[in-house]
Amino acid sequence: VTAIICDNLCIIGAGLIGGSIARSVQKRGLARHVTVYDASESVRERVRELGFADAVPDAIADAVKGADIVILCVPVGACGAVASQIGSHLKAGAIISDTGSVKGAVVKAVQSHLGADVHFIPAHPVAGTEYSGPDSGFDGLFDNRWCILTPFENTDATALKNLTTLWEKMGANVETMTAEHHDLVLAITSHVPHLIAYNIVGTAADLEQVTQSEVIKFSAGGFRDFTRIASSDPTMWRDIFLNNKAAVLEVLGRFTEDLIALQRAIRWDEDEKLFDLFTRTRTIRRSIIDVGQDAAEADFGRPHALKQDYEK
Ligand code: NAP
Repeated sequence: VTAIICDNLCIIGAGLIGGSIARSVQKRGLARHVTVYDASESVRERVRELGFADAVPDAIADAVKGADIVILCVPVGACGAVASQIGSHLKAGAIISDTGSVKGAVVKAVQSHLGADVHFIPAHPVAGTEYSGPDSGFDGLFDNRWCILTPFENTDATALKNLTTLWEKMGANVETMTAEHHDLVLAITSHVPHLIAYNIVGTAADLEQVTQSEVIKFSAGGFRDFTRIASSDPTMWRDIFLNNKAAVLEVLGRFTEDLIALQRAIRWDEDEKLFDLFTRTRTIRRSIIDVGQDAAEADFGRPHALKQDYEK
């Protein structure tokens, strides 16, 4: 059985996600030819050195010419501009997709630039790390992770099947939902958690009574787990919040209410309220481990080397 999904696959944006798709497609032979384009000259040069593309043209029009599948892997705020640059160069029948962490705003920004003879199917792989750029991607990033597709009612069934198969062959599980529902689900599972992490790390940095070096020194108390999330790419995350305003503000409203209730519970010694919540949240962690979306190792499996090993 052949693994090939298409002849020509084109990736726009060679960062963590674009670089991981290109590596994954190349390694598994899912396309005969992989073309990668990035707006930045230095990134294009780096992709040529790393060798995860068959071609890295300097012009975006050349990159998409003849492509069967084009995947936009640029920050959410750049998707509209990229669509306007490629719209008139696409092959009839091509599948255009993206990987943006927000769907509604991307659909709005991209759709008007595409002709009726191409198939636009928005997508979002729910997989990533806190690193970005062409060196950060790796084959296997999407293994046993979910990729959410948000097709339209009139999306061509064959095109949808092809894109689904591509993600499945890269190791992902595929689910479909509306763009609107996607944005609400991701607001609670990803966007607001990132905002909370950015906020707590910012608060710690601004606290006058505790020094920066103390915050760093004693970070194993819990703080460091937030710093991983709060070190994610600033451009990407600025774009996410500005493009998923409604859902983020909705979830933040609920979060703030619940936080105030906790504040009150602490002030009034409502011990049961605190204990009950902390018991309920434990079972959520357990469920995430049970479905294979995280490992069960204590402390995220961090190595606990002896002090003398660090001092060597
Ligand atoms: P990244 O590592 O920062 O890569 C994005 C790349 O796109 C950069 O090389 C950037 O170049 C380039 N770029 C920016 N504007 C461009 C344009 N107009 N035309 C062509 N290239 C352009 O970002 P990423 O983490 O791969 O994220 C890509 C997309 O996937 C985003 O929409 C993000 O929301 C989504 N996503 C990310 C994750 C994650 O965990 N990181 C997970 C799922 C989905 P410059 O650096 O020179 O600007």
